[in-house]
Amino acid sequence: MANKRDYYEVLGVSRNASADEIKAAYKKITLEWHPYKHVNDTEEKKKEAEEKFKEASEAYSVLSDPDKKAKYDKFGHSAFDGTAGADFSNINFEDLFGGAFGGGFGGFGDFINSMFGGGGRSSSGSREKVYRGRDIRTRVRLTLEEIAKGVEKEVSIERYEPCPDCAGKGAKEASDIQKCPHCNGTGVETIKRQSFFGTIPVQTTCSHCNGTGRVIKNPCRNCGGTGIVRKRVSVKVNIPAGVENGMQLTVQGAGHTGQWGGQKADLLVLVEEIPHKYFLRDGKDLFYTHTLSVTDAMLGCEVTIPGLDTSFKVNVEPGTQSGTIARLKGHGLPGLRNYTGSGNGDLYVKFLVWIPRKLSKSEKQALEEMRGSDSFTPNPNRDDRELFEKMKTNF
Ligand SMILES: [Zn+2]
Ligand SMILES: [Zn+2]
Repeated sequence: MANKRDYYEVLGVSRNASADEIKAAYKKITLEWHPYKHVNDTEEKKKEAEEKFKEASEAYSVLSDPDKKAKYDKFGHSAFDGTAGADFSNINFEDLFGGAFGGGFGGFGDFINSMFGGGGRSSSGSREKVYRGRDIRTRVRLTLEEIAKGVEKEVSIERYEPCPDCAGKGAKEASDIQKCPHCNGTGVETIKRQSFFGTIPVQTTCSHCNGTGRVIKNPCRNCGGTGIVRKRVSVKVNIPAGVENGMQLTVQGAGHTGQWGGQKADLLVLVEEIPHKYFLRDGKDLFYTHTLSVTDAMLGCEVTIPGLDTSFKVNVEPGTQSGTIARLKGHGLPGLRNYTGSGNGDLYVKFLVWIPRKLSKSEKQALEEMRGSDSFTPNPNRDDRELFEKMKTNF
């Protein structure tokens, strides 16, 4: 307990603070740091909120109890031998949150609903609400080689899981969890509202339970009564062959668990393609540029083209022009049904002819002799001219 902060410091009050001041300080912190309020935040912020909330709750559980407060004032943290002093049973959460969130903070109930998936609310009006957790978004970076074959990847995520201490219920004893009597557990109440047409009934978030549908008497100290705790886990994601940059894969049920034994949401995985050293990609097709020497282009040769798993031998005809494109049918990427279609794409190879920048004296001499020769005089045919017009932007 060496790093434990002073309870007064945690709540930001002086040692002479009155009970009301302590209560007000705790209320202020919970309003700011209650995990419900940070569900949409970054993972870091969520963690911070959870810790601040727990720390403040522990401090308040001691400082709001006159007996414990006296012990703490005398002996500090050592008065409680670890965390024994942090008993949440004396905190009236209903009183604290009910007043704070239901009164001057009216939108909070709706906020909880939207965050924990208010869509799960039963329409029958008498059944208790079921909370769905939130989806988690993450990304995987894949090489073209991995994309060509498909791959299983592990991603590390932090998610809300059912609290092991209370089995996701929010309290140890089942009797501590009661259906909100005000709304009969639905989280919704009907109020009468004045309108242009007279008094009309309007459905709104239950002000008694803030739309949660329940009243928890002795919240579980591990999860603060929410029934969920954060945990870092590793999730296996099956990546089918042929996925593309920007695609999103869904791992059903791998997202956050909803509070109070709620439903598990999904993990959404964004695919990021790592640019390849040699290949450019357009859907299922791959593009590769191979540079020939002048002599190989003139005399013809056999070249080796790297593939994603095996390489290919390609015959270069004598007299191959710079810009010639060879199509290796079926040697592109596999198609992905519903996206790029079935069947494999093609591998396109463009040949560029490299002109030497420096020549030896004898090379120069030999070439000088050929300069005037008929076969060296440019005489492009129709195919050669079209070649340059057909050049794809992918190269
Ligand atoms: Zn718990
Ligand atoms: Zn209620």
